Amino acid sequence: MPTFVYASKCDGCGKCVDICPSDIMHLTHSMFNGRKAYNIEPNYCWECYSCVKECPQHAIDIRGYADFAPLDHKLTVLRDQEKLEIHWKIKYRDSSKNQFSFPIRTTKWGTIKAPQSYDQPQPEDLHSQLLSHEPQYLKNARGLATLT
Ligand code: SF4
Ligand code: SF4
Repeated sequence: MPTFVYASKCDGCGKCVDICPSDIMHLTHSMFNGRKAYNIEPNYCWECYSCVKECPQHAIDIRGYADFAPLDHKLTVLRDQEKLEIHWKIKYRDSSKNQFSFPIRTTKWGTIKAPQSYDQPQPEDLHSQLLSHEPQYLKNARGLATLT
């Protein structure tokens, strides 16, 4: 299910608009309600959850994927800015509950190097099967496995 915004919770901050890779979260202006976000084209929603995780007001609802939450469940996604974690809570149709947390990112803030900080690629790299910075950043110093 594409995203759905609860207008009563939305404060119009625009964070979902900035992060949506499909560019379908937009803001509307109303004399009575002020700035509110809404999904202008639900058919083009990737269901990537980026806006759900980013919204500080927890104003965006979405259905969980069927592989972890069968139909007729309620999914709540909370962003913990202190712990830098996303907390997921699922209430299943039989009323049982499950919750789990994942880190927002696995590298420390400020530790990602800019592209220009890396060595320049060499022309012969075009003939290598390795992707950029493999195997160093796969943390596999012995190199990739080979068939024998
Ligand atoms: Fe955009 Fe992803 Fe949110 Fe869909 S789930 S509205 S694609 S950010
Ligand atoms: Fe509204 Fe949340 Fe989007 Fe901010 S991120 S505009 S509060 S729906």
